Amino acid sequence: MLPEVVFVLGAPGAGKGTQCSLISEEFDFVHLSAGDLLREERQRPGSEYGEMIEEKIRNGEIVPVEVTCSLIHKAMEKSDKNRFLIDGFPRNKDNLDGWQRVMSDKTKLLFVLFFECSRELCTSRCLGRGAAGSGRSDDNLESLQKRFNTYMNDTLPIINHYDKLGMVRRVNAESAPSEVFEHVKKCFTNLDVQS
Ligand code: UDP
Ligand code: MG
Repeated sequence: MLPEVVFVLGAPGAGKGTQCSLISEEFDFVHLSAGDLLREERQRPGSEYGEMIEEKIRNGEIVPVEVTCSLIHKAMEKSDKNRFLIDGFPRNKDNLDGWQRVMSDKTKLLFVLFFECSRELCTSRCLGRGAAGSGRSDDNLESLQKRFNTYMNDTLPIINHYDKLGMVRRVNAESAPSEVFEHVKKCFTNLDVQS
């Protein structure tokens, strides 16, 4: 059976990572965060992409899909599981095209989980995360402005693309994690019956 994937999208700070952790505790999905995979690659001694990744992340720009997609692909192959949450990908047309070129025949996209949250709340969450010591070089106001621009200009069109295909499940992400998760759960129960 082809590996099954759910893309998880939403603005920076919408809560993708938090909800993906909760989902993977309750349902049989492996959480793969594209941003975390890139941050790991950036730290890997000898990586030829380290500097490029750091510059892109700090500037809120998107890393070329060849790099991101191969990290995701490798992480999927390393896992013995068959269902994956792909958190924070695809973020632009380059990501989408690259995935379709290499991965669409190798996987089955179940749906796109989309977290809706106001820019103000997202910004204050990321700044709070930075102040609490996330250690992330992009949890500051200057990077956040750039990340939001990229989100509005490049990522929203990808969500619209999947929306037209009827593949988007949207969840309001403005309340506490446990409350948001109550709504998220509904997207994952009965998956086997539906598919
Ligand atoms: N990033 C990227 N491609 C991806 C995912 C992330 O280039 O597929 C980079 C991009 O610069 C982004 C940063 O990594 O702004 C942080 O992404 P992450 O998903 O960790 O941020 P979040 O949205 O969770 O705050
Ligand atoms: Mg994240």
